[in-house]
Amino acid sequence: VSADVVVQATGVTKKYGGIAALKGIDLTIHEGEIFGIIGPNGAGKSTLFDILCGIIQPTTGQVQLLGKTIQGMSAHVVARLGVARRFQRTAVFAEATVMQNLLFAAHQSFSHSMLGRFVHSKHWQEERDAFFSRAQEVLGITGLWDDRERIACTLAYGVQRRLAVGLALMPDPKLLFLDEPAAGMDDQDSDSFITLVREVAPGRTVIIVEHDMRVIRKLCHRCLAMADGRPLQRGQPADVLQHPDVIEAYLGAA
Ligand code: ATP
Repeated sequence: VSADVVVQATGVTKKYGGIAALKGIDLTIHEGEIFGIIGPNGAGKSTLFDILCGIIQPTTGQVQLLGKTIQGMSAHVVARLGVARRFQRTAVFAEATVMQNLLFAAHQSFSHSMLGRFVHSKHWQEERDAFFSRAQEVLGITGLWDDRERIACTLAYGVQRRLAVGLALMPDPKLLFLDEPAAGMDDQDSDSFITLVREVAPGRTVIIVEHDMRVIRKLCHRCLAMADGRPLQRGQPADVLQHPDVIEAYLGAA
């Protein structure tokens, strides 16, 4: 495996009882790529995504992240490698401020991350300062500085989505997984979201499952189109999206 490969999946299958959700996926993603996973409903995108970030185990096959085989690792051990997944819920605490949410995300992730270097040190002050300064950085990166004292649930939808990305950025992950980040966004929100991802991408690898092809086109260097648990096409979004097999898969599923 060459040094710049950060995700390597080989012969990955997943069965749920009699249902074969994934029928054999090989995938290589390189450092610094923004990589999209697309396909019609039921194609197996979420299943592949969950396997890649260690949330579920494949039935057969292997996944290496950042040079380590993740077989048998729990999700939080995978997280310790430098892998973060956008928080499923927008805020950890809907009733807490943006800043409090970021600090809480740091506490949740610190034992699994770079920030964990303080865990045994008993330098609580140091730890608190590290979280606080990282939270300030993330407020800056995500454009949430002016919203830092606002209660999370009172934020506009697009802003809440930025917060969700901010939470995932707290441990400064090398590998960032985004699961349908633009779902429910209007064009304006999704444009500002695209800008945000471009800004946070340098120095990381970003993997996105997304139904919004506009986002895939504008953001991803490469993507994988799946259908029926199999890879269909991969390459630059413009090429993949106009491939007859991909168009047919979407039409067939409609
Ligand atoms: P969508 O775009 O609708 O989210 P998807 O491409 O993410 O779809 P998956 O959610 O990965 O597809 O599902 C792939 C197949 O596996 C589907 O047939 C689905 O019903 C099945 N499946 C997924 N998760 C489970 C589960 N926990 N138990 C049983 N079957 C499942």
